[in-house]
Amino acid sequence: MIYDITPVVSERLHVWPGDTPVKRQVLLDMKRGDHLTLSGLSATVHLGAHADAPSHYGADARAIHEMSLDYYLGLCQVIRVSASRGASIRPEQLPERVAAGRVLLATGTFPDPESFNRDFAALTPELIERLHGNGVKLVGVDTPSVDHFESKDLPVHRTFLKYDMAILEGLALDEVPPGLYQLIALPLRLEGFDASPVRAILRTISASPA
Ligand SMILES: [Zn+2]
Repeated sequence: MIYDITPVVSERLHVWPGDTPVKRQVLLDMKRGDHLTLSGLSATVHLGAHADAPSHYGADARAIHEMSLDYYLGLCQVIRVSASRGASIRPEQLPERVAAGRVLLATGTFPDPESFNRDFAALTPELIERLHGNGVKLVGVDTPSVDHFESKDLPVHRTFLKYDMAILEGLALDEVPPGLYQLIALPLRLEGFDASPVRAILRTISASPA
């Protein structure tokens, strides 16, 4: 079974305030009698479900095309944390054992990607340190940022940079039961870019060999 954890990309999607909204430009349209339909797209690369590149928060750090795909592909644990709006999630809220190299945290504090709420929960540097200690190399969230909305010094992003860990943001995790999955969330090979949209899915792990 596959869980699609990617919000729909449309002009209704509410991007980060001040960022470039989604715009589809229809150059040709068969419904208007053209010989085919042809569209262009303009939008922020921090679009719905997306991978942040280290160059987004570190001046000399890697751009998205330089990231190893190994981060975005493989065994992954979905953890539901109980967090109120605006909370900072602490390491004590994690289960004792983290059993995969990738962790997705469902906070439920950004319920509607078409209506931007600024009071989503953030992570903490201590939480990232703990996950790093558990061998985790990627952390994904169901919010638009791993830091608080107002944060300018981005302590959580900087902790990811320090430990060479990867970030996924904007995931749709409401429907996903906690547990172990195979994650596939590959960024596009966008040279020099600071992020990329991803089509993020979780595949259930079958108990018996297929
Ligand atoms: Zn981002």
